[in-house]
Amino acid sequence: MTISTDQTSVDPARPKSRRAPRRRLSPGRRQYLQFKAKHADSLLLFRMGDFYECFDEDARTLSKLLDVALTSRDVGGGQKSALAGIPYHSLDTHIGRLVASGLKIAIAEQTTSEPNSEGIVDRAVVRIVTPGTVLDQSLLEQSKHNYLVACISPPPSGGGRGRPADRRNHAGLAWLEASTGEFAAMELPSANIIDHLERLEPAEILVDTDTRTILENITTNSHPPSGGGRGRTALSKTVIRSLDESILDPELAADSLKNHFNTDTLEPFELENQPLATIAAASAIDFLAQTQIGRLPFITTLRRHRPDRYMYIPAAALRDLEVLTPTVDGGPTLLNTLDTTRTPMGARLLRDWLSAPLTDLDELNTRQLAVNTLFNNSNLRSSLDQTLNNIPDLARLVNRLTLGQSEPRELRQLFRGLDKAPELRQLTTNRDTGTSISDLFDGVSSHDEVRDLIDRAIVEDPPFRTSDGGMIKPDFDHDLDQIRSTASRARASIAAIEAKARQDYDIPNLRVSHNRVFGYYIEVSRSHLTKVPPEFERKQTLVNAERFITPELKELENQVLRAADQISELEQSIYRRVCQQVAEHAAAIMRTANAIANIDVCLALARIAAENDWTLPFLDNGDLLKIEDGRHPVVENVLGYGRFVPNDIDASNSENQLLIITGPNMSGKSTYIRQAAILTILAQIGSFVPAKFARIGIVDRIFTRIGISDDIAGGRSTFMVEMVETASILNQATSRSLAILDEIGRGTSTYDGLAIARSVAEFIHNNPALGCKTLFATHYHEMTELGQTLPRANNLRVAVAEEGDSIQFLYRIVQGGADRSYGIHVAQLAGMPSPVVERARELLTELENHSNNTTPTHTPQDHLQLDLFNTNPNNTDFLRTITEIDTDNLTPIEALNRLYELKESARTELES
Ligand code: ADP
Repeated sequence: MTISTDQTSVDPARPKSRRAPRRRLSPGRRQYLQFKAKHADSLLLFRMGDFYECFDEDARTLSKLLDVALTSRDVGGGQKSALAGIPYHSLDTHIGRLVASGLKIAIAEQTTSEPNSEGIVDRAVVRIVTPGTVLDQSLLEQSKHNYLVACISPPPSGGGRGRPADRRNHAGLAWLEASTGEFAAMELPSANIIDHLERLEPAEILVDTDTRTILENITTNSHPPSGGGRGRTALSKTVIRSLDESILDPELAADSLKNHFNTDTLEPFELENQPLATIAAASAIDFLAQTQIGRLPFITTLRRHRPDRYMYIPAAALRDLEVLTPTVDGGPTLLNTLDTTRTPMGARLLRDWLSAPLTDLDELNTRQLAVNTLFNNSNLRSSLDQTLNNIPDLARLVNRLTLGQSEPRELRQLFRGLDKAPELRQLTTNRDTGTSISDLFDGVSSHDEVRDLIDRAIVEDPPFRTSDGGMIKPDFDHDLDQIRSTASRARASIAAIEAKARQDYDIPNLRVSHNRVFGYYIEVSRSHLTKVPPEFERKQTLVNAERFITPELKELENQVLRAADQISELEQSIYRRVCQQVAEHAAAIMRTANAIANIDVCLALARIAAENDWTLPFLDNGDLLKIEDGRHPVVENVLGYGRFVPNDIDASNSENQLLIITGPNMSGKSTYIRQAAILTILAQIGSFVPAKFARIGIVDRIFTRIGISDDIAGGRSTFMVEMVETASILNQATSRSLAILDEIGRGTSTYDGLAIARSVAEFIHNNPALGCKTLFATHYHEMTELGQTLPRANNLRVAVAEEGDSIQFLYRIVQGGADRSYGIHVAQLAGMPSPVVERARELLTELENHSNNTTPTHTPQDHLQLDLFNTNPNNTDFLRTITEIDTDNLTPIEALNRLYELKESARTELES
């Protein structure tokens, strides 16, 4: 995450201007300085003729960012200022790079073409572009949201600037997508801010000072590793901007929201007792309004996000399970395995569903029903497939339209999309009942009026820009038709002049033509100049010809030019009128866009289920996780269909609560335990699952502790990262959660690691407040003892076929625990030189013999157990210390400290 500060341009002209009176500055400079004073925190692009110019510090910034020449300009009063600029038509090409730098870009346009009494044209800042508020399609990634987020915390001291003090350790979060009008807000524990931010992947975050501190602390102290590998954070490119704190007042915020939505209360948005969410929402919308200079995109409602209605997947788990982002660049994810959506709206919705699976059974049933209907009807699937293809981003198109920013081509795109609506509506309507086949698809209108309007008004292949003209069809507007025919009559008369003059004066190569500089002219080659009549007035001399004008041609030219101006003006006003008329249907178009997104996602889920033999899971509020012949969809997709070995999962809170999976490295343990989480996520987005049978009790949270990675940048070792993540699971899981633990305790010595792995497993099993279903993969085969001693623990192992010294992984999970680690076999499989493997075997035998000799009465497992937990009188103090630990009330950091202390005293004892 880049925590950047706003750039405030230093104006080098200012100190000097005190010495040199203002009036001596040029009027243009004075106008510029007034604008800059108002937009001091922005890079100001100041339109001057065909260029956008930057001055002073802004010029240096622009020159550096875009690698354009830095010059200087006399600005009156004996001063010079730095100057850099870009041609106006290249703004679209450059704006992306400017915005990506995190700067606010203020665009000042010329609003008149004629200079005023001061000799300068009027100008106005028409919009401010920031990463979280862009609307240009070229700057937005189609399949991703582009959120502006506001995040507010109450000050630690309480009260203060009118912000609520009773919500200590809580924060308000609001997210808004200017390009689609999506707007939501919530209150949440401050500790969960990063998880939600990672889920949202905002382009820009607005924060108050306290939240900035929290974000900085979280990102540098307790957040899982960032940068590279599995720790890559989704926030690395996010721009963080400080908010104007004077507006952070719950009442002002509520007024601002009510004002925006034109309501008397915040009740419709369920925000009445949510002061922090209210402030965050108001901050976001106020910021957006500032950037759009008062014109707001089509934001008609604000949704309160209710965390209890969604499965909570911490950012670390989303990454570990590779739901949205791959561990290695370009690698597969669950999202891209599922994503065969055909529209940008569908692609974004699938991402939303995956990052926030549901916990509400009714909502899930609705989704399941929709997917199942499509699953069972392959004809309908292929018809919908064809209809959805090439539907453009209706949601974003309609938003630009309501802001008056649409170009003619976008209106035609909108038409193309809406033109599919009647067919979609018909396909998703039940012929017998006349109602939609799913509540989720109900919302597609046929948009007859809008389609008719656009089709009558806008030509099939419109120009890029409104200013290019030629976008309005004939027969749409009577006045326009009249002027156009006047112009074409004048042009025809001009053409007739040529034919007549050729004949009248016997000049066969005489031609009437025109160019931008001289307008219309009659051109006669040198050889015929003697025949030119006196009424031809000389206009221009060329090497081989002369150009002339006549009063008649001049008059016709004036007619053509006058008509062109009128046509251009009229076309633009007709275009604006058409846009406004279409914009009146924005709400209905948005409903259609949302329904299309639902159809598209359900179709993608039905398609993958039908093509890969998936099954519809039974969902209930029970605690079973029962899968028969389950497969990991992403691994299966990589391996190729049919090459993945299916496995059963049978877990429940009452019996197999703790599954301990042992087996060699690379034998499929991680895949198996992740599969449990992935199938649960799939089930809770309403999808089918890759299995023969699945019964899944709704899970409220999924936690993972997977893999090994150092957070070197954050100054934390592998072990520390692992312990922080494990502690957070132990503190946050409930009995309805699912925990996936891979190789806990691996980052330290064997005894330490084993002790921690075992105590974590026992804690999950024994603590009544926890008791969540847990899949625990470990290469410590000693852990299998727990399967025998803890009533709700069960040992599973990965089957291995042994032949002499070599082994083969079968990827089949069977009952029972592994009795050894197979490390040397794996080394052999990995291609270690055979002398190394042989020597390792010798050493292993020696170590095992040694171990057996020193503790002749115990098996290797017993040896480990007794060393740690025997009741030798020397260990009594040690054991007492352990039993006195109040594990239920220990913070993660205290737990770690206690662990280090225990380790130290154990080591001292061993050494003495
Ligand atoms: P472990 O956690 O035991 O080290 P992994 O789960 O990482 O092993 O699996 C290693 C590799 O084995 C995977 O990348 C995959 O290619 C293959 N694999 C895992 N499970 C299966 C399976 N059920 N069927 C086929 N191949 C599998």
